[in-house]
Amino acid sequence: RKGNVIITGASSGLGLATAKALGESGEWHIIMACRDFVKAERMARTVGIPKENYTVMHLDLASLESVRQFADNFKHSGRPLDVLVCNAAVYLPTAKVPTFTAEGFELSVGTNHLGHFLLSRLLLEDLKKSDFKSKRVIIVGSITGNTNTLAGNIPPKANLGDLRGLSGRLNGVNSSPMIDGGEFDGAKAYKDSKVCNMLTMQEFHRQYHEETGITFASLYPGCIATTGLFREHIPPFRLLFPPFQKYITKGFVSEEEAGKRLAQVVSDTSLTKSGVYWSWNNDSASFENQLSEEASDPEKARKVWAISEKLVGLA
Ligand code: NDP
Repeated sequence: RKGNVIITGASSGLGLATAKALGESGEWHIIMACRDFVKAERMARTVGIPKENYTVMHLDLASLESVRQFADNFKHSGRPLDVLVCNAAVYLPTAKVPTFTAEGFELSVGTNHLGHFLLSRLLLEDLKKSDFKSKRVIIVGSITGNTNTLAGNIPPKANLGDLRGLSGRLNGVNSSPMIDGGEFDGAKAYKDSKVCNMLTMQEFHRQYHEETGITFASLYPGCIATTGLFREHIPPFRLLFPPFQKYITKGFVSEEEAGKRLAQVVSDTSLTKSGVYWSWNNDSASFENQLSEEASDPEKARKVWAISEKLVGLA
């Protein structure tokens, strides 16, 4: 049978390119989990994913209520779940003041980390039940959260500190909107959320891989300088960033190539190892990359997991 894969944020950028790559293979049915389902349907048609290979379902990760609703709707669909791809994200580098999710968490960490944390926990049972040959949970990471790289050292750097802001619910009222308790910084909040994504993947691996056989992985697909992720950035940045990445850092990848990379992590029979953070070299060959000290700290992973459980109402 075809594999069934949920991709969050499949209505643009990397998620859409991945849906296209998998949809064209004919081996997958893609559940496009999107906040704007009219756009998702339009984009699926625009890039030519065969109708029988996708379903659009509503999911707004900035609302835990919506995440729960999505998980319920999916369970009622009767479809098995074989692979979950947590891809959606917001990036607010020029925001001067924080904005918040429906439950009042700072928007970047609330969407990118807490929304996906609850989603993957709620869908774990469905993955366990699947009889698919290789079941996977993939959380898209980023080089920017990795302070052991050049890109990860461009300030403001990711740093979760002692997690005091996260413990305080990131609400900007009686606690800081930032995980480390500091002043609001939109670019840092995004990087912090990506560190949480990578820590979550590893904690999933430690707690569930052996028992369930599910592969938990993260990846850095390369710098896709053309996606909507940079839509909030100042115009000169949006103009100069793609050529800068293409000719100076040489880290540039097209959306199509990045989509193929993520599609590999979904379906390639050689990428089944769990607990791994995948990257690609300039010849587009995949390799197991090293995470920064903070992004691979098991103690921090456990703490982020435990606090996040409380925030999303699982503990
Ligand atoms: P895009 O902005 O193009 O895609 C992000 C997607 O997330 C969009 O489809 C967007 O929906 C969706 N989304 C945002 N908020 C929500 C929400 N509340 N609920 C549901 N969906 C939501 O950016 P990219 O494709 O570049 O980003 C995809 C992933 O790749 C992210 O995890 C990002 O961190 C990661 N990444 C990107 C890199 C890059 O260079 N671009 C590099 C490394 C990692 P909508 O279509 O409605 O706007």
